Amino acid sequence: MTSSLYEIIRAMPKIELHRHLEGAMRISTLVDIARDFGVEMPEYEVETLRPFVQMMPDEPRTWQNFMAKFRTLRQFYLAPAVIRRIAQEAVIDAAQDNIKYMELRFTPKALCNIVKCSAHDVVRWVCETVAETAQQYDIVVRLIVSMNRHESVEVGEKVTQAAIDHMGLGVVGIDLAGIEAGYAAYPFRDVFEHGRRAGLGVTLHAGEWEGPQSVWDAISNIGSDRIGHGIRAIEDTGVVHVLVERGITLEVCPSSNVDSGVVASMSAHQLPVLLASGLKVTINTDDPLVSGITLTDEIVRVMENLPITLDDIKQMTLNAAHAAFLPDDEKRDLVKHFERLLYASDVLD
Ligand SMILES: [Zn+2]
Repeated sequence: MTSSLYEIIRAMPKIELHRHLEGAMRISTLVDIARDFGVEMPEYEVETLRPFVQMMPDEPRTWQNFMAKFRTLRQFYLAPAVIRRIAQEAVIDAAQDNIKYMELRFTPKALCNIVKCSAHDVVRWVCETVAETAQQYDIVVRLIVSMNRHESVEVGEKVTQAAIDHMGLGVVGIDLAGIEAGYAAYPFRDVFEHGRRAGLGVTLHAGEWEGPQSVWDAISNIGSDRIGHGIRAIEDTGVVHVLVERGITLEVCPSSNVDSGVVASMSAHQLPVLLASGLKVTINTDDPLVSGITLTDEIVRVMENLPITLDDIKQMTLNAAHAAFLPDDEKRDLVKHFERLLYASDVLD
């Protein structure tokens, strides 16, 4: 049963709206980078590196353990060629998982922490590489540029300007990530307004490590089109009501929530309750490397541990198509394409 479910989901055309480039690298590539650049490791082996960049089965699921992986990963952005390579491989890996449309996000401040580059430089490198690679594979990829709550508004402004300047090269949105607890979104209000006026989609991480008031901050102060995670909105029926009324889509990342200690286990995840509340929910990986998953794995885990059917999965895939940060005509085509792929195929029935 498990293997056949896996095959069905793997064969199904999929959409990913919430995946960080910095959490989507191959461990084998990290080993190559470590060897090429002399990053100190006891031995240049995948299994030696794995516990430092991926949650291990017996490891306590805590925010500290989860974030420690990203601190290690930040040591690997050692050259423009590295950034281009990881962008290329992220596209190939998604295509090989039968993802047909992906919005890949990346954080210029993180990628530039060793290579002294501007937000403009790094956005250009990622845009060029992603466009070249996607052309060779059966996938459409658009980009979201992220800034962090715990970093300055000035950084956010620079990153947003770089995003605006690359809208013709595949950038479709901006995102607020970083430490949610203690860092409200509203100081970034003007930054996001600037991006929105230029035509960028707006999504904010909220309602993950903080409660529904953080989701409220994202929608009332910033006017977020989508919410990254948003699962804790369920704790306040008023916030749920506004999300439903405005048709705001949640980019839910179940394995990430378990790995970071936000949710106790996959079987305790709020996903079915969010769906039953009428919210527009989508399923995403967040950080495939850190959680050790593909989108196929993520969907299979959800179906094996929660009362979620194949019809629910199809509906959530269509929700993702409707929530894509694309111009109206392209979005209409994406929705139609997925309606045809999901409901006309015998394989999936
Ligand atoms: Zn995320």
